[in-house]
Amino acid sequence: MASLNSPTLSRRSLLGVAAGIFGLSRLTEETTRGAESGGDGAFNFAFLTDIHVTEKLRAAEGLRACINSVNALGAETAFVVTGGDHIMDGLAVDAAEVRAQWALYDECMKELRLPVHHTIGNHDIGGWAPKGTIQTTEPEFGKALFAQKYGLGRTYRSFDHNGWHFILLDSIQFDELNKEYYGWIDDAQLAWLAADLKQVGQTKPVIVVTHIPFFSVWSQLNGDPRKGEGPKSLVNNAAAVRKVLGEYNVKLVLSGHGHVYERIELAHYNRTTYIQGGAVCGLWWRGKVMGNPEGYGVVSCKQDGTFEYEYRGYGWV
Ligand SMILES: [Zn+2]
Repeated sequence: MASLNSPTLSRRSLLGVAAGIFGLSRLTEETTRGAESGGDGAFNFAFLTDIHVTEKLRAAEGLRACINSVNALGAETAFVVTGGDHIMDGLAVDAAEVRAQWALYDECMKELRLPVHHTIGNHDIGGWAPKGTIQTTEPEFGKALFAQKYGLGRTYRSFDHNGWHFILLDSIQFDELNKEYYGWIDDAQLAWLAADLKQVGQTKPVIVVTHIPFFSVWSQLNGDPRKGEGPKSLVNNAAAVRKVLGEYNVKLVLSGHGHVYERIELAHYNRTTYIQGGAVCGLWWRGKVMGNPEGYGVVSCKQDGTFEYEYRGYGWV
């Protein structure tokens, strides 16, 4: 068990997400018609990151409790966005175990009464670890299973809802030499991102979701403030991504991965808020993270292009 006071270990271990078959059909329908929910155009969505469902640790029971809480949010809540790491781990287990974890995830998510938009996390990827046993020829290897079942055929994409634009990024790439993942937005995705935003224009409010954060003050707060993060902890080319995003009205960048709840605001620069959204599983289903409970975010998007974010525990003990 990695200690949160050990940045290297915790970063290496604290990875994860969730998706739902039930949500997929409604998701497609909603994306196609552009979803008009009526009223003044304001809406909420729930941000669930780092679920890490497993047969152990009462994790499925915990996810169901979280889902019950989300189901009770009310009619203004339009959908769920996940932040990645839906299953406990696909990196270092065999193909059957990957299938079993996703099956359990699907089973739990049948109870969710909202569409779901899935963001890929490192633990959703099959076999990308030195100890990985999934062969490259197996369908569970890499990102294909996630893309096929939860990403509408892709690992990154965008959609619109009531005047807001959402971008779900794939922040994980593969170091073939060391058989490890690292945080990176690849060139093809950066080109797609630039083209997507060009179409969106400079006024529409944008929310970006990336499993691996662009920034974090975790190590600075808990260790040597001069210490840098490792390649797995942050998106290593965040500066290149921000250069693309900087020309547009990006209000919020949501992330997961570290299981901490932190909010970074560069108040005088771009006015983008960066929120790492805690974790549905807390400390890997073993308790709170530095006092922050197992929970999820509720994001309220206003018609004037502003938002509010509230982190909510769902009462897990
Ligand atoms: Zn992660």
